[in-house]
Amino acid sequence: MKKPIYYTCQNQSCGTRWESTEVVVVNEGQGPLFRCPICGARNALAAREEGGVTVYRQRRTTGS
Ligand SMILES: [Zn+2]
Repeated sequence: MKKPIYYTCQNQSCGTRWESTEVVVVNEGQGPLFRCPICGARNALAAREEGGVTVYRQRRTTGS
């Protein structure tokens, strides 16, 4: 069984949580990201190899 991966839209006024299967991961030249289907915000992801499969983890922006 695969553990679902969740992403949270980093747009503070949106903040919608998505399962990884609900969004489309694209690479526009600055690394993988997904666009929130609701607000269109770009959310950076980090690609990682896990058991021969590429999985995308959310990259949290640690702005204060
Ligand atoms: Zn959003």
